[in-house]
Amino acid sequence: MHEQADMLILGGTILTMDDQGTIIHNGGIAIRHGALLYVGTEEEARRRFQVPETLRADSCLLIPGLINAHTHAPMTVYRGLADDLPLDVWLKEYIWPAEGRTVNPHMVYWGTLLAADEMIRAGTTLFVDMYFFEDDIGRAASDAGMRALLGEALVEFPSPNTKTPAEGLAYVRASLERWAGHPLVRPILQPHSTYACSPDLLVKSKALADEFGVPWLIHCCETQQEVEDVRRQTGKPPVALLESLGILDSRVVFAHGVHLTEEEIALLAERGVSIVHCPESNMKLASGVAPVPQLLRAGVNVAFGTDGAASNNDLSLWGDMQTAAMLHKVASGDPTVLPARQVFWMATRGAARAFGLDDRLGSLEAGKRADVVMVDLCRPNLIPMYEPYSHLVYALHPSDVRTVIIEGRLVMRDWEILTFDEEEVFCKISEMAQELGRQWGRDTNWRKTIGQ
Ligand SMILES: [Zn+2]
Repeated sequence: MHEQADMLILGGTILTMDDQGTIIHNGGIAIRHGALLYVGTEEEARRRFQVPETLRADSCLLIPGLINAHTHAPMTVYRGLADDLPLDVWLKEYIWPAEGRTVNPHMVYWGTLLAADEMIRAGTTLFVDMYFFEDDIGRAASDAGMRALLGEALVEFPSPNTKTPAEGLAYVRASLERWAGHPLVRPILQPHSTYACSPDLLVKSKALADEFGVPWLIHCCETQQEVEDVRRQTGKPPVALLESLGILDSRVVFAHGVHLTEEEIALLAERGVSIVHCPESNMKLASGVAPVPQLLRAGVNVAFGTDGAASNNDLSLWGDMQTAAMLHKVASGDPTVLPARQVFWMATRGAARAFGLDDRLGSLEAGKRADVVMVDLCRPNLIPMYEPYSHLVYALHPSDVRTVIIEGRLVMRDWEILTFDEEEVFCKISEMAQELGRQWGRDTNWRKTIGQ
């Protein structure tokens, strides 16, 4: 007597990322109603389940979907617009003027689809976004079949979407109600930073997060300048300010956390605050080296984020994982810090834990949601394979990701995106970029550039 499943994945090696670090050769995965029904061997899966669809994974590595814990998806539109500049010049002369002219629901929708395209191709199945018009970003994520935690950036001043902090909070409340029960998309609270939000907005946004039981993410201690500015404005550095407002708890996540003292690290560990490490963005903007080995030693949970495409400049987490593993070795003079397995754990389990999703995502275990990534191992950079974690962190290229399943649905099969028209996305972005490029005297016609 067979049990019913929707899909079987047979063959290959399963890197489960469960607590025991189980690796299964000749694996078998059964998926039903968007969840993992069975994770084990091909032999047992064949014997137990009856399915309409079977996927072969021979010569592949099956891993849990990666979680990009901090990004600004629509900023793909500004990728490469301006680089190699001091932060204030980059922001004030390029990014802010560009945003002022172009951020609208149309731009964020198509910019997010481009981001989704890039992220799916790199094995990312959930992204945690902070931008404007997040409902349109959610619409794009949903159309792409991607999981997203939406974060309307709450700021003290008028944003492209809302005129006042109160309007921002009302937008997020309506959004929380609109997306309730959606299988892929969920709004959370994301005040921009302690320098762009008043204490009142910080407190009110946390109250709203607590009312709906959702995470609260903020840019925090990204640059030394920020720490000094906030100290001047409020009399306290960012961490002390948040602590004095009673905000720090296990539903709080900091993007960056570069400039932290030993005492602050101890406090974050005690309060259960998670950090999203964005090494490539921090390096490119010369923000500094986050104290990740110290955070991990203190017991602080750390995830990875790419940050926006204007400051990375790609949305592949593989680059950030490899960069982090190497950066902290050279920064500390200790080649044993951030070993590959720990780095991959941070990108999957650590990220799921940061957003209270450890019971649903981050590993391939029966009962969790079916976000499965198939990596093709028949590649010159991946042969031979003695140890999978090493390959994942030190040798893999995003293009080695072959097939991606999110919530039990095939969104990419054998490198073909199945959920939306990639060509249409490229054309829409090209139109926007030509408009924008003209203002800086750049020719951005990608068809012309690639000789079509
Ligand atoms: Zn950011």
